[in-house]
Amino acid sequence: MAFNEKLFSEQLAQLVATPSVSCTNPKLDMGNRGVIDLLANWLSDMGFAIDIQEVDGNPDKANLIATLGTANPLHGKGGLVFSGHADTVPYDDKRWSHDPFTLHIENNRAYGLGATDMKGFFPAVFAAVQPFLQSDLKEPIIIVATADEETSMSGARALLNHPVPKARYGIVGEPTGMQPIRMHKGIGMEAIKVRGQAGHSSNPALGNNALDAMHDVITELKQFRLGLQQRYRNAGFVIDVPTLNLGCIHGGDNPNRICGHCELEFDLRTLPGMGLDDLRQEIDILLANVADKYHIHIERDSLFAGTEAFNQPIDSPLIEAVERLTKMNADSVAFATEAPFLQKMGMDVVVMGPGSIDQAHQPDEYIDLAQVPVAVNVLQGLIKQFCL
Ligand SMILES: [Zn+2]
Repeated sequence: MAFNEKLFSEQLAQLVATPSVSCTNPKLDMGNRGVIDLLANWLSDMGFAIDIQEVDGNPDKANLIATLGTANPLHGKGGLVFSGHADTVPYDDKRWSHDPFTLHIENNRAYGLGATDMKGFFPAVFAAVQPFLQSDLKEPIIIVATADEETSMSGARALLNHPVPKARYGIVGEPTGMQPIRMHKGIGMEAIKVRGQAGHSSNPALGNNALDAMHDVITELKQFRLGLQQRYRNAGFVIDVPTLNLGCIHGGDNPNRICGHCELEFDLRTLPGMGLDDLRQEIDILLANVADKYHIHIERDSLFAGTEAFNQPIDSPLIEAVERLTKMNADSVAFATEAPFLQKMGMDVVVMGPGSIDQAHQPDEYIDLAQVPVAVNVLQGLIKQFCL
């Protein structure tokens, strides 16, 4: 069946016109429910069984799990998941050439907020599935859409808490130009607060200087980073070591006042095989030593739960299939995705979708329409191999 670009553009236009901005600032946060309902209506018409699960008890946020066919007991545990997030990043409409919520097509590019990251993936999946709607599927096709990928990944996390159809293989359709991705780094963001005692600077005994202690905290963190980079290396990444970036620091108010409070934020980007919780524990031990030395209060908070690194071993039948269908070797990327959560559900997972991350999170975001039929072909190849 020839790819129906008109239908793809109409569906993408409706998805783009349905705002679903995720933001850590509650004033800008919208929820993704409109997009979930739109997808659910289309998929229901296509014959999928629909399951909508509220996330974090918030009626504006939900995950969608839509299933076509049931796992055939003769073939055991199976099924192919196409997964994407239904939210977008915030936008600055003054920097857009056109309204971000009105799909605008020019030079075979479809412009709109979320067009490439990643509302465009869903109508591409619909086009791929269309010829198989009446087929006798041996294993189910499952379409998953999540909430809050761009902020907390609470949607993907919630998937782990609900019974979901068991599937063997998962595609996370983030924009990679259909390059299969089997590894990415993990990310954690942490805040360290040192609380001392303010006082007149003329006599150090009148207070307890938070900046003095923070200086030691930073020294320890730099030493910790060096140690990590000596312990861990992975040649599959452009930056082949874990990183720790000291991002911002705030503390004190006057040169002649003992600094009573100082706060530091940093991020930590891990390689596969490193667990965020283990690293946090190691950092806490370092912080406790500094706190003891200065008799000062130090606490660490995670700014979000973090995303673990992702590694799909190369010997998976899924990797073999996507490398053959795309004629590209599986690679790594620098951005984090929901892939580790799907993997925790027992699937082999690859990250691969139409569009480019270079146009994501930007004004005038667009998806290159020439990539869509290529993507549809690859997804159909996967359905043929794993579901028929
Ligand atoms: Zn994305």
